[in-house]
Amino acid sequence: MKIAFNLIRNVDHLWVRVHDRTFSVRSAYEALRDSSLSVSNAAWKVIAGFRGLQRIKTFLWLLAKDRLLTNAERVRRHLLSSARCEACGAAVESAQHIFRECPIVVAVWKGLIKHDKWVEFMSLGSLEWIRRNLSSPTHFAITPADWDLHFGAILWSLWTRRNAIIFDPDSIDMLSVSDRSRWLWEDMRATCALEGNPRSDHASIDGVLPSSRTNARWVSPPMDWVKLNVDGARDHGTGFAACGGLIRDPDGRWVRGFARSVGICSPIESELWAVHEGLVQAWVLGLKRVVVEVDSASVLRLLSQHSCRESSMTIVQHIFSLLSRDWSIKFVHAYRESNAVADSLAKSVALGSLEFRIFVDPPHFIFALLQVDCMASG
Ligand SMILES: [Zn+2]
Repeated sequence: MKIAFNLIRNVDHLWVRVHDRTFSVRSAYEALRDSSLSVSNAAWKVIAGFRGLQRIKTFLWLLAKDRLLTNAERVRRHLLSSARCEACGAAVESAQHIFRECPIVVAVWKGLIKHDKWVEFMSLGSLEWIRRNLSSPTHFAITPADWDLHFGAILWSLWTRRNAIIFDPDSIDMLSVSDRSRWLWEDMRATCALEGNPRSDHASIDGVLPSSRTNARWVSPPMDWVKLNVDGARDHGTGFAACGGLIRDPDGRWVRGFARSVGICSPIESELWAVHEGLVQAWVLGLKRVVVEVDSASVLRLLSQHSCRESSMTIVQHIFSLLSRDWSIKFVHAYRESNAVADSLAKSVALGSLEFRIFVDPPHFIFALLQVDCMASG
């Protein structure tokens, strides 16, 4: 997914301490604590208690703090000369415009918000607007069941779509905001149901942004192990694919990253290439205990077979050959949400090229995503 790529354009906002390649969970936690000291009211607690994905919770927090880099904000900071909305051409793209006034958004909300509450829904200040939607599902919603998750999913879908329009127009797919957010909503509902995490109107958590209660988040590897996250990317039109991945230590620190264009292949082959390249990197670095996190269930199924004879794919045979060496490798399934950094890396090389990139240090374009993982695992 390209969605989170532009979640936070100004990484300084959530600060990342990346001096000398140190990127610790501790620094993330401390910075979060500092920034949370001044916020203690009910609205913040409601956001902190958001049941959905950590990434959406972080985003809601930024929206409530008015820290999203909208075009209006970019103009204010002299980063841009026009505050125009790229989706509808309106003169000023503010947060209010993106999430409530842009015609595409109005159409989405119209079908979901009670008619007699429309004016209030459209005019509340953003912090109170978020609080009321998350904590009082029956207030605005025609269908209140899991409205907190649905509301969060819609806002997130609007923001990621908006970012795609501006920063990455090639990635825009045909999914409508309604479809995308419904898919995301159902995903989060299923996760909550699995974890026995029914909604709670009164979050009892102090501070802001506690670690996520969903398991769709990056978890650091055990002591003495490293974690390799890998992913493939593929253009459905041309069939050109790429793979990427990264290795982190138990403190979440960067060890190595890579991205490679792999020519024309199937989606599963691009994922397998990612596993292969990641293992090669780990082996070259002399790492002996590696947890490999993959978000493709098909790949895991393939690699859990006892031998490669059942597979006709050469790449599978290469992987089995690597696995037979003297080291310990564990495969784990990753939720797509917790594999966003690997996904971004895979998409960082030009498809159809011969590009092969090794990242000794984390590249700037994944800082925000690394930070999200870091907060989730802390
Ligand atoms: Zn607009």
